[in-house]
This record gives sequence, structure tokens and C-alpha cells, in this order.
Amino acid sequence: MTIHTDPSATYRCKNCQNPVAFRAELLSKNYLAKTGRAFMFSHARNIVLGPKQERSLMTGVYTIAGIFCSNCGEELGWKYLQAYEARQKFKEGKFIIETAKIAKDYY
Ligand SMILES: [Zn+2]
Repeated sequence: MTIHTDPSATYRCKNCQNPVAFRAELLSKNYLAKTGRAFMFSHARNIVLGPKQERSLMTGVYTIAGIFCSNCGEELGWKYLQAYEARQKFKEGKFIIETAKIAKDYY
């Protein structure tokens, strides 16, 4: 997939403008979350992890942790900690952030 956007674009918490991820860390735009579309990122910053939990998603069972804005506490998405299906292992350590919770800007 080719995405023609500025690699320095920053994704911020929509609630408080806290920068949480960069365009260069965006891996995929093809995820679905509770509230709609979600993006997968290789890294996220200025976030705190919630407690570990097991969750059964469309593609299998995962151990995940909710991720929350470190500034305002808004729930942004989740981090995959462990995948139980071999073909889903690539998701381990990745972050899913709901697009409804972030806004993109440019420098
Ligand atoms: Zn925030």
C-alpha cells in the first residue's frame, strides 16, 4: 500500500493535542476498532498502558493492553502484547489507535 503523505506528520490525541505517533511509524490503515477505523503503528509515545487482558478479536485471540493518553487519560486504542496464532505474531508489540481519537498535523 502506498500512502502519499508527509512522513513527518504527527498524530495527536484529539482531546488534548498530546503527540502520540508519527506518520513514519504508521504501518497500516486497515484496522477496525469499536468506534470505526483504526491505524496500526510500530511505536507510540506519551501513552500509558492499561492492565493486560485477553481479547478475542476477528482474527484470533490476543493478549492486549489498552493504551491511554499520558496527558488526559483518554483511551486511544490498544497494544498487542501476544498473539496466539502464528500468522498473527507480526502484530506483537504493535499499537492500534482508533482514528476517531487522533488528529493529524504537519510541521
Ligand atoms: Zn490526550
